[in-house]
Amino acid sequence: MTLSLEGRVALVTGAGRGIGAAIARTLAEAGACVAVLSRTEANAQQVAQHIAQAGGEAIPIAADVADATAIENAVNTILNRYERLDILVNNAGITRDMLLLRMKDEDWDQVLQVNLRGAFVATRAALKPMLRQRWGRIINISSVVGLMGNAGQANYVASKAALIGFTRTVALEVGSRNITCNAIAPGLIETDMTRALPDNLREYALQRIPLGRFGTPEEVAFGVLFLCSELASYITGQVFIIDGGLTVGL
Ligand code: NAD
Repeated sequence: MTLSLEGRVALVTGAGRGIGAAIARTLAEAGACVAVLSRTEANAQQVAQHIAQAGGEAIPIAADVADATAIENAVNTILNRYERLDILVNNAGITRDMLLLRMKDEDWDQVLQVNLRGAFVATRAALKPMLRQRWGRIINISSVVGLMGNAGQANYVASKAALIGFTRTVALEVGSRNITCNAIAPGLIETDMTRALPDNLREYALQRIPLGRFGTPEEVAFGVLFLCSELASYITGQVFIIDGGLTVGL
């Protein structure tokens, strides 16, 4: 048994940059054909080209995970091209931070729409081929804040905590068909999302991370690769924390 994904077909949402792009590249390096889904067409194309230049197989798909029809169409595009879908990584996510008393309805709705409803819509579409194949891997990218809470992020934290309940329920519903569903809870990872943090917050966070640094997108992607592989065939409904030790002792 190996980490090889040869012959597998994967869909990664929000794969145009950051953690999603690293996941798409890593799964392709392991041999999977990867559908690189991003809202921004140019980003999807760039990541897919990068994978092709490295000798992998990828197709770019421009779609918004908040649009159920677009996601159904994306899954059909993948099935028309590869005739299967084995792996879904629900990675697309946004933040609209504000203390609760000042949080606007639209900021609450938008974050839940993308982070939670997007995962629901994509999972429902991907489960159809996975159930037929009697093999599937679903990975939801949650966050350590979904376990801990975080002031100023009630909308984001609610979406990430809900993703964990969603993960456990999907695991219960489809385990008998040899489909696993797990969540990954990253800590602070060096991407555009965290580059926006003010210096004092970065310093405060760094002091609380036992490994003394932010993680890289690749370090999250390696966790996804493991959970997608045959090596993780008996792991389902779990939360895999990748945080440099940030939550140790909580
Ligand atoms: P990022 O902002 O760099 O990338 C997010 C990606 O999602 C982008 O490519 C964006 O275009 C895409 N996206 C956003 N809304 C979308 C939509 N409606 N439809 C399709 N794609 C959409 O962020 P990142 O840091 O790479 O985060 C990736 C995931 O990891 C997110 O779910 C985030 O919540 C989670 N996460 C990040 C960190 C971190 O420290 N960076 C920590 C924990 C969890």
